[in-house]
Amino acid sequence: MQAVKITEHGDTDVIEYGEHPDPEVGRDEVLVDVKAAALNHLDVWVRRGLPGVDLEMPHVPGSDGAGIVEEVGEDVTRFEEGDRVALAAGVNCGECEFCRDGDAARCVSFHIIGEHVPGIHSEYAAIPEDNLIPVPEGVDWEVAGSSCLVFQTAWRMLIDRGGLTAGESVLVLGASGGVGHAAVQIADHAGAEVYATGSSEEKLEHAEDLGADHVVNYEEEDFAGWIREETGGRGVDMVVDHIGAATWQDSLRSLAKGGRLVTCGATTGPNPETDVNRIFWNQLEVIGSTMATPGEVDDVMELVWDGTFEPAVRDVLPMSESARAHEMLQDREGFGKVVVVPDSEL
Ligand SMILES: [Zn+2]
Repeated sequence: MQAVKITEHGDTDVIEYGEHPDPEVGRDEVLVDVKAAALNHLDVWVRRGLPGVDLEMPHVPGSDGAGIVEEVGEDVTRFEEGDRVALAAGVNCGECEFCRDGDAARCVSFHIIGEHVPGIHSEYAAIPEDNLIPVPEGVDWEVAGSSCLVFQTAWRMLIDRGGLTAGESVLVLGASGGVGHAAVQIADHAGAEVYATGSSEEKLEHAEDLGADHVVNYEEEDFAGWIREETGGRGVDMVVDHIGAATWQDSLRSLAKGGRLVTCGATTGPNPETDVNRIFWNQLEVIGSTMATPGEVDDVMELVWDGTFEPAVRDVLPMSESARAHEMLQDREGFGKVVVVPDSEL
């Protein structure tokens, strides 16, 4: 089969598309004929190399994708040939203290398909049954293959970890990115007053279309000062930050007393200075979140399948142009998801 392959860690020139051994289907696995897949910032980190993650090369990336069941292993019970499925990339052990306690996203051996083990940017992929969810008829492959990772991440972050409720105010940073554009929709759906930042007029208009009530261009204005002005000096109840070092201080400055900063990533770096005085004096909470439990995935994906939430598709490229897709993410061009499709499907 044909697959996207990272031959070594490095710049986009380490990405190839070509012949790769067909996957072997384990007893509890399902062979998926991939119709569409998508990139996440995670793919850029995996390509560059993550500390503590030692990958077998060549590595097939990809933590989002969807397709048709081609074959099932003998222990598979939930799926059969011809079913439409999407990848839910978080893998848990089901046995540790946290899994047994019902919070599989805290599993001590939690890992992600595409990050720690081969992913789905290929014509076919063998995926454990537990990591597939059914996709209803009528849902586009582009939607099915691009929504699961960012919507589950944003859902757990805002709803389950952050406890966002109707009437609260929330600031979403980088509202045009994958997690950002999901967070705006989820916050709006939860009944919150939504503030959003972006880097261009076009991106801000898009954030408004998704449900943002107030928008600001962070390249032209100090967003924390803007939040103070907009909220009469109070600040917001929650800040959704996946940017990290570049925004951390201003995220804390944007919070009302007792506010929560929820974080699921640090695309600009993991080691910002932090104002401890502000944290204790304003009684702030810093809440980490990553991926989601299978139950949370079901909750949010139901709302994607019924059209309540819509992943924005930035572009659809053949898998052979994956290097270009990586560049689009790195350079923050446009908004929403970059979808890649096996060349044989185009
Ligand atoms: Zn576990």
